[in-house]
Amino acid sequence: MSKTEFRLALRLVEERLKKIRDKVPPRKFNTKKPAEVEINKFWYDGKTVDRIMVVLRSTGCSHYKTNHGCSMCAHYDGTAESPVSAEDYISQWGSVINGTVLIGDKSQEFDINQFPVLCLYNLGSFLNPDEVPNQAVQEIFASIAQFKGIKKVIIESRAEYVTREVLEQIRQVNPGIIEVGLGLESVNTEVRELCHHKNFPDLDLFHSAVQLLHEYNFRILAYVNQKPPFLTESEAIEDAIATSVFAYQSGVDAVSIEPTSLQANSLTDHLYQMGLYRVPWLWSVIETVRGIHHRIKNADNLDLRLGGYFDEEILSGSQGVASGVPRNELFPHTTSGNCNNCTERVIEAIKEFNRTYDSTILYSQGKCEYCSLVWQEALKVSDSRTIPRRIIDLLS
Ligand code: SF4
Ligand SMILES: [Zn+2]
Repeated sequence: MSKTEFRLALRLVEERLKKIRDKVPPRKFNTKKPAEVEINKFWYDGKTVDRIMVVLRSTGCSHYKTNHGCSMCAHYDGTAESPVSAEDYISQWGSVINGTVLIGDKSQEFDINQFPVLCLYNLGSFLNPDEVPNQAVQEIFASIAQFKGIKKVIIESRAEYVTREVLEQIRQVNPGIIEVGLGLESVNTEVRELCHHKNFPDLDLFHSAVQLLHEYNFRILAYVNQKPPFLTESEAIEDAIATSVFAYQSGVDAVSIEPTSLQANSLTDHLYQMGLYRVPWLWSVIETVRGIHHRIKNADNLDLRLGGYFDEEILSGSQGVASGVPRNELFPHTTSGNCNNCTERVIEAIKEFNRTYDSTILYSQGKCEYCSLVWQEALKVSDSRTIPRRIIDLLS
């Protein structure tokens, strides 16, 4: 790899990201209310359960703030302009557990103990004290420990914020099952740094985070993005398989494949609007699952998820409301797909897979008379240029 080309490609990606992000309109949110509360079906402890997902209205990802963030992500659009205080986070959590934030009748009958799995997201790193103050982390986890119906909590963080201090603070107040989702995205440095713009050049950091989390008895979920920009369809399948295998071999407990979806103000969406990017085919997502199962020994009990495909029931949310601008600041406008004829049925199969972990549901999907051949042609597309060269050709 030529270092000069790598540096030039990185500069071009960052310049383009800056241009895109600079156009994001001002944001104004109520920081006493979470951005979203929803319920979806999830596989846990050998059965399908109701999972509650709380997205806190938060300070937002530090990587986005300092370096324009990752190419496929625009979560930042759903975050507050100024830092959210510990009191605000605690009051957001309070409004969830007492049901006051929920819409209509739900608030009357709501009991958080009904949900064995709780996802507590902050559109960034829950373990970064600059995003969520320590006091809020500790008080919220102490509160969660009081609800015996909650068996497992899932939070997210970049690996660099996994520190002994923050893990100890959590363990002082909550001994329960806590899973931390770490954004790994790709095992390949060029893909991760240039295509994803992850700003995560050293995988030793990932290994240290895995080790430390296990030391404190946390579970680890690795996020693997399938098909960042600048990769061909078949390269993206191979990259997602290799990354997932690497993640399991590094000791993570679960992997979530995240097929790219399109959020406004992201680099992927920008390229899509110019006809230079297509989201992954669902057939490719199935191929990725097949490849992982093929390469991992005793794959039957793998904790493998396909992110973004759950039937959700929204209990509270600000979808489409931001500073009077009609937009949906959290959800993608396009998810990975096939053709109009088969996308719905394959998505249903993926949801069923997430509810049951039964991969035969995916493998038994029959070919589509309209698009299976088109997809196979897409798999044949190759690009002999290096990744930096592709970026330079496309963005300069
Ligand atoms: S994917 Fe994660 S690390 Fe990247 S910009 Fe989004 S929130 Fe930040
Ligand atoms: Zn089709």
